[in-house]
Amino acid sequence: MTIDQTVTCSRCGAVHTVPFHAGINVAQEPGLKAAVLDGSLFLWECPMCGTRNLLKGQTLYHDPDARLMVWLLPEGALDEEHVRSVESHLGELDGYTLRRVPDAGSLIEKVHIHEAGLDDLVMELAKHVTRLELADSEKNPALLDVPFRFFRMDGPDNRLTFSYPLDGRMFLAETGFRTYEDCRGIVQRNPALRPAAGRFATVDAAWIARFVR
Ligand SMILES: [Zn+2]
Repeated sequence: MTIDQTVTCSRCGAVHTVPFHAGINVAQEPGLKAAVLDGSLFLWECPMCGTRNLLKGQTLYHDPDARLMVWLLPEGALDEEHVRSVESHLGELDGYTLRRVPDAGSLIEKVHIHEAGLDDLVMELAKHVTRLELADSEKNPALLDVPFRFFRMDGPDNRLTFSYPLDGRMFLAETGFRTYEDCRGIVQRNPALRPAAGRFATVDAAWIARFVR
Protein backbone atom coordinates (compact mmCIF):
# COMPACT_ATOMS: atom_id res chain seq x y z
CA MET A 1 0.00 0.00 0.00
CA THR A 2 1.61 3.25 -1.10
CA ILE A 3 0.52 6.82 -0.85
CA ASP A 4 1.97 9.78 -2.74
CA GLN A 5 4.09 11.96 -0.52
CA THR A 6 5.31 15.45 -1.35
CA VAL A 7 8.97 15.75 -0.39
CA THR A 8 11.66 18.40 -0.49
CA CYS A 9 15.29 17.57 -1.22
CA SER A 10 17.49 18.31 1.78
CA ARG A 11 20.32 19.50 -0.48
CA CYS A 12 18.86 21.43 -3.44
CA GLY A 13 15.34 22.12 -2.16
CA ALA A 14 13.61 20.60 -5.22
CA VAL A 15 10.06 19.40 -4.52
CA HIS A 16 8.93 15.99 -5.76
CA THR A 17 6.14 13.50 -5.29
CA VAL A 18 7.32 10.01 -4.36
CA PRO A 19 5.48 6.83 -3.33
CA PHE A 20 5.57 6.04 0.39
CA HIS A 21 4.67 2.64 1.85
CA ALA A 22 2.05 3.44 4.49
CA GLY A 23 1.78 -0.30 5.20
CA ILE A 24 4.40 -2.98 4.64
CA ASN A 25 2.96 -6.50 4.55
CA VAL A 26 5.82 -8.83 3.69
CA ALA A 27 3.49 -11.82 3.20
CA GLN A 28 1.62 -9.93 0.47
CA GLU A 29 4.75 -8.26 -0.94
CA PRO A 30 7.76 -10.44 -0.01
CA GLY A 31 10.16 -8.21 -1.96
CA LEU A 32 9.67 -5.42 0.56
CA LYS A 33 11.52 -7.24 3.34
CA ALA A 34 14.90 -6.89 1.63
CA ALA A 35 14.16 -3.22 0.91
CA VAL A 36 13.41 -2.69 4.61
CA LEU A 37 16.55 -4.50 5.75
CA ASP A 38 18.90 -2.57 3.42
CA GLY A 39 17.05 0.67 4.23
CA SER A 40 16.25 1.51 0.58
CA LEU A 41 12.50 1.54 1.26
CA PHE A 42 12.97 4.64 3.40
CA LEU A 43 15.11 6.59 0.95
CA TRP A 44 14.34 8.58 -2.16
CA GLU A 45 16.92 9.86 -4.60
CA CYS A 46 16.57 13.41 -5.86
CA PRO A 47 16.44 13.41 -9.70
CA MET A 48 17.87 16.93 -9.74
CA CYS A 49 21.02 16.48 -7.65
CA GLY A 50 21.25 12.77 -6.80
CA THR A 51 21.05 13.25 -3.03
CA ARG A 52 19.49 10.35 -1.16
CA ASN A 53 16.94 11.69 1.31
CA LEU A 54 15.16 9.95 4.15
CA LEU A 55 11.41 9.51 3.79
CA LYS A 56 9.40 10.60 6.80
CA GLY A 57 6.03 9.38 7.92
CA GLN A 58 4.34 6.61 9.79
CA THR A 59 4.09 3.08 8.53
CA LEU A 60 3.20 -0.34 9.86
CA TYR A 61 5.54 -3.25 9.14
CA HIS A 62 3.65 -6.55 9.30
CA ASP A 63 5.15 -10.02 8.95
CA PRO A 64 2.17 -12.39 9.49
CA ASP A 65 4.34 -15.55 9.36
CA ALA A 66 6.68 -14.22 12.06
CA ARG A 67 3.73 -12.69 13.97
CA LEU A 68 5.54 -9.40 14.09
CA MET A 69 4.18 -5.87 13.77
CA VAL A 70 6.45 -2.86 14.08
CA TRP A 71 4.78 0.53 13.95
CA LEU A 72 7.03 3.35 12.80
CA LEU A 73 5.43 6.28 14.55
CA PRO A 74 7.49 9.48 14.54
CA GLU A 75 7.12 11.58 17.67
CA GLY A 76 3.97 13.71 17.51
CA ALA A 77 2.57 11.88 14.46
CA LEU A 78 -0.50 10.64 16.37
CA ASP A 79 -1.95 11.40 19.76
CA GLU A 80 -1.90 8.60 22.33
CA GLU A 81 -5.69 8.29 22.29
CA HIS A 82 -5.54 7.36 18.62
CA VAL A 83 -2.80 4.79 19.34
CA ARG A 84 -4.96 3.18 22.09
CA SER A 85 -7.91 3.13 19.69
CA VAL A 86 -5.86 1.29 17.06
CA GLU A 87 -4.72 -1.22 19.68
CA SER A 88 -8.27 -1.86 20.84
CA HIS A 89 -9.34 -2.60 17.24
CA LEU A 90 -6.55 -5.08 16.59
CA GLY A 91 -8.62 -7.99 17.82
CA GLU A 92 -7.16 -11.45 18.11
CA LEU A 93 -3.42 -11.31 17.61
CA ASP A 94 -2.31 -14.29 19.66
CA GLY A 95 1.40 -14.66 20.06
CA TYR A 96 2.17 -11.43 18.25
CA THR A 97 5.13 -9.21 19.04
CA LEU A 98 3.95 -5.59 18.77
CA ARG A 99 6.55 -2.86 18.75
CA ARG A 100 6.58 0.86 18.28
CA VAL A 101 9.63 2.77 17.03
CA PRO A 102 10.28 6.49 16.43
CA ASP A 103 12.45 6.28 13.31
CA ALA A 104 13.27 4.14 10.27
CA GLY A 105 16.65 3.06 11.68
CA SER A 106 14.94 1.56 14.72
CA LEU A 107 12.37 -0.24 12.55
CA ILE A 108 15.15 -1.74 10.41
CA GLU A 109 16.94 -2.90 13.57
CA LYS A 110 13.81 -4.59 14.97
CA VAL A 111 13.28 -6.52 11.71
CA HIS A 112 16.99 -7.36 11.56
CA ILE A 113 16.93 -8.79 15.11
CA HIS A 114 13.78 -10.79 14.40
CA GLU A 115 15.21 -12.15 11.14
CA ALA A 116 18.29 -13.32 13.07
CA GLY A 117 15.95 -15.40 15.23
CA LEU A 118 16.64 -13.24 18.28
CA ASP A 119 14.40 -11.56 20.86
CA ASP A 120 14.59 -7.75 20.83
CA LEU A 121 13.86 -7.47 24.58
CA VAL A 122 16.75 -9.81 25.39
CA MET A 123 18.86 -7.88 22.89
CA GLU A 124 18.20 -4.56 24.64
CA LEU A 125 19.36 -6.10 27.91
CA ALA A 126 22.45 -7.54 26.17
CA LYS A 127 23.20 -4.07 24.81
CA HIS A 128 22.90 -2.64 28.30
CA VAL A 129 25.30 -5.19 29.78
CA THR A 130 27.79 -4.77 26.92
CA ARG A 131 27.65 -0.97 27.31
CA LEU A 132 28.37 -1.25 31.04
CA GLU A 133 31.35 -3.54 30.39
CA LEU A 134 32.69 -1.30 27.65
CA ALA A 135 32.41 1.88 29.72
CA ASP A 136 34.23 0.08 32.52
CA SER A 137 37.03 -1.39 30.41
CA GLU A 138 37.55 1.87 28.45
CA LYS A 139 37.20 3.90 31.66
CA ASN A 140 34.87 6.24 29.76
CA PRO A 141 31.53 6.99 31.47
CA ALA A 142 30.30 8.73 28.26
CA LEU A 143 29.87 5.23 26.81
CA LEU A 144 27.05 4.54 29.29
CA ASP A 145 24.71 6.75 27.27
CA VAL A 146 25.63 5.98 23.67
CA PRO A 147 22.91 4.29 21.60
CA PHE A 148 23.86 0.76 20.56
CA ARG A 149 22.43 -0.84 17.43
CA PHE A 150 22.49 -4.54 16.62
CA PHE A 151 24.95 -4.80 13.72
CA ARG A 152 25.43 -8.52 13.14
CA MET A 153 25.67 -12.01 14.59
CA ASP A 154 28.38 -14.11 13.02
CA GLY A 155 31.12 -16.69 13.43
CA PRO A 156 30.84 -20.29 14.62
CA ASP A 157 30.01 -19.10 18.14
CA ASN A 158 27.42 -16.46 17.11
CA ARG A 159 29.34 -13.44 18.30
CA LEU A 160 27.19 -10.31 18.55
CA THR A 161 28.41 -6.99 17.22
CA PHE A 162 26.84 -3.63 18.03
CA SER A 163 27.54 -0.27 16.39
CA TYR A 164 27.55 3.03 18.26
CA PRO A 165 28.42 6.67 17.60
CA LEU A 166 30.99 8.56 19.65
CA ASP A 167 32.50 11.97 18.91
CA GLY A 168 31.09 11.93 15.37
CA ARG A 169 32.49 8.51 14.45
CA MET A 170 30.99 5.02 14.38
CA PHE A 171 32.52 2.22 16.44
CA LEU A 172 31.83 -1.48 16.89
CA ALA A 173 31.52 -3.37 20.17
CA GLU A 174 31.52 -7.16 20.35
CA THR A 175 30.28 -9.62 22.90
CA GLY A 176 29.97 -13.39 23.05
CA PHE A 177 26.64 -15.13 22.56
CA ARG A 178 26.94 -16.09 26.22
CA THR A 179 25.94 -12.52 27.09
CA TYR A 180 22.72 -12.97 25.11
CA GLU A 181 22.04 -16.33 26.77
CA ASP A 182 22.59 -14.86 30.23
CA CYS A 183 20.20 -11.99 29.42
CA ARG A 184 17.63 -14.45 28.06
CA GLY A 185 17.79 -16.22 31.42
CA ILE A 186 17.24 -12.95 33.27
CA VAL A 187 14.21 -12.13 31.09
CA GLN A 188 12.77 -15.62 31.66
CA ARG A 189 13.15 -15.27 35.43
CA ASN A 190 11.66 -11.75 35.41
CA PRO A 191 8.44 -11.78 33.35
CA ALA A 192 7.70 -8.20 34.48
CA LEU A 193 10.41 -7.08 32.03
CA ARG A 194 8.22 -8.16 29.12
CA PRO A 195 5.70 -5.61 27.81
CA ALA A 196 1.98 -6.36 28.15
CA ALA A 197 0.39 -8.20 25.23
CA GLY A 198 -1.81 -6.26 22.85
CA ARG A 199 0.10 -3.00 23.15
CA PHE A 200 2.64 -1.49 20.80
CA ALA A 201 5.54 -1.23 23.24
CA THR A 202 8.66 0.86 22.80
CA VAL A 203 11.39 -1.61 23.74
CA ASP A 204 14.62 0.36 23.80
CA ALA A 205 17.35 1.48 26.21
CA ALA A 206 14.81 3.56 28.16
CA TRP A 207 12.60 0.50 28.60
CA ILE A 208 15.49 -1.49 30.11
CA ALA A 209 16.55 1.48 32.27
CA ARG A 210 13.19 1.28 34.08
CA PHE A 211 14.31 -2.06 35.54
CA VAL A 212 18.09 -1.90 35.84
CA ARG A 213 20.72 0.70 36.44
ZN1 LIG B 1 18.16 17.54 -4.77
